[in-house]
Amino acid sequence: RISIRGLSKFYKDYLALDRIDLDISKGEKIVVLGPSGSGKSTFIRCLNRIEPHDSGVLMIDGRIIDDRTNLTALRGSVGMVFQNYNLFPHLSVLDNCTLAPQLVRGITKSDAEATARRYLSQVNIAEQAEKFPIQLSGGQQQRVAIARALCMNPEIILFDEPTAALDPESISGIVGIMRDLAEQGITTVCVTHEMGFARHIADRIVFMDRGAVLEVTPPEEFFTAPRTERARTFLAQMI
Ligand code: ATP
Ligand code: MG
Repeated sequence: RISIRGLSKFYKDYLALDRIDLDISKGEKIVVLGPSGSGKSTFIRCLNRIEPHDSGVLMIDGRIIDDRTNLTALRGSVGMVFQNYNLFPHLSVLDNCTLAPQLVRGITKSDAEATARRYLSQVNIAEQAEKFPIQLSGGQQQRVAIARALCMNPEIILFDEPTAALDPESISGIVGIMRDLAEQGITTVCVTHEMGFARHIADRIVFMDRGAVLEVTPPEEFFTAPRTERARTFLAQMI
């Protein structure tokens, strides 16, 4: 469970997050929507402290996340998948997936490899395990990035526009994988423009504008009867 109270974040004197309040239950699927520059990436990056917040309280499973938090442990339990995959270029697919579990979790190489191969099969890329990232397509690299995140056995997984750099066919593959993860009950916070995922998989839509959360609504309500004028304009532009 994630509890967020009055979370604010500045970049120098620019207020990027403005007193965000939100509770996310275990297993919940949240999709964050909002115009470019509204603070979506900043918000989810605060959840694993890639960006530190300046004020307010962030609690994950009863523990306050602040400058005393063990970041290695935090990022083990809160995994993240980025738009540009961010794989280690000098490591094979398999090594990308097994490095952190060995270093951070103290798992043996053979156990880490067995787990990695299981997740690589789950995302349909098992046969590429010995390749290097540069030898893979964008969609394949994103599959590896998801498998790598899963290998840490995270409680929460954050996605920041995981399909933004992909072609349509790869997009549907990645959305399918995200749907599978959602069905497995892992808590998911996702910034995405994939409206199918937002409508049919999300439990709630968080709509942001100018660093603030304007609406937190179930998708059926958000897409048919948004509460704010800003969300109405945003949706009108999406279609
Ligand atoms: P997009 O949909 O384009 O990805 P976003 O909603 O993810 O946008 P953010 O990346 O969170 O938006 O940015 C929110 C605001 O903070 C923007 O005005 C951006 O210019 C600013 N910002 C983001 N990162 C930094 C940074 N490292 N330093 C200074 N300003 C930043
Ligand atoms: Mg962003």
